Amino acid sequence: MLQNKIIIGNWKMKKDLNESLVAAEKFALKFQDFHDDDKEVVICPNFVSLFEVGKILKNSDLKLGAQDVFWENSGSYTGEISPTTLIQAGASYVIIGHSERRKHLLEDYNMIHQKVKAVLEVEGLIPILCIGEENEDRKSDRRDFILLNQIQQALNGLNIGEYKKIIIAYEPVWAIGSGTVLEADEVLYASKIIRKAIADIFGQKMVEENFRVIYGGSVNSQNVKELSSLENMEGLLVGGASLDAEEFFKICERI
Ligand code: PEP
Repeated sequence: MLQNKIIIGNWKMKKDLNESLVAAEKFALKFQDFHDDDKEVVICPNFVSLFEVGKILKNSDLKLGAQDVFWENSGSYTGEISPTTLIQAGASYVIIGHSERRKHLLEDYNMIHQKVKAVLEVEGLIPILCIGEENEDRKSDRRDFILLNQIQQALNGLNIGEYKKIIIAYEPVWAIGSGTVLEADEVLYASKIIRKAIADIFGQKMVEENFRVIYGGSVNSQNVKELSSLENMEGLLVGGASLDAEEFFKICERI
């Protein structure tokens, strides 16, 4: 059974605190009449803006997500933020292992595994696990292997309780911020590979009940229609096109 669609806006470091608060007001206003039981919309501002943006979004249907988390809940980890702190700030989702963190902060799938585990151990926070191949992997036909490998490293050995949810965001690294969206049939193919990999670890029932597989990479209001017609399309992770309330609203309407 397919679950409702989720559309996640990742503001990255593209809005400072003041800009995030102004944008949050605009988003809350724009989405005030957006009541769609089949869709969930999440905004992920930076850490410092999280709490205040959460307060602004509280009276709307928009949910709050964070862009990263640490793998311990407390301790001597200067500069890090725990899963519990995110929940206290109002977040109900958290992006884990975004390719920009893998690139600039050398985050690897061992760290990503620990982060997913830590998030699953608390109540009220849903991990959005990012996976995706580099351009050279795609060209050399290693994509399937890369995706399987990333899923196994991130999820193998995790204990996923009956009621826990996990979102897998398939984001080809080369498509992010490039203006080039993946062909719809390639998205479909990759999502099948991903579902198969999850089923091999956790079984088919869990794939259907606990996981959602979504796509990210240069989605905008013009190309969203084609993607949304795909079988098994359970949502989107949107970067650039989530910065503007009007544009993001159109995406959420059209999916
Ligand atoms: C992202 O960074 O997760 C992303 C999908 O960005 P964009 O939509 O800008 O490609």
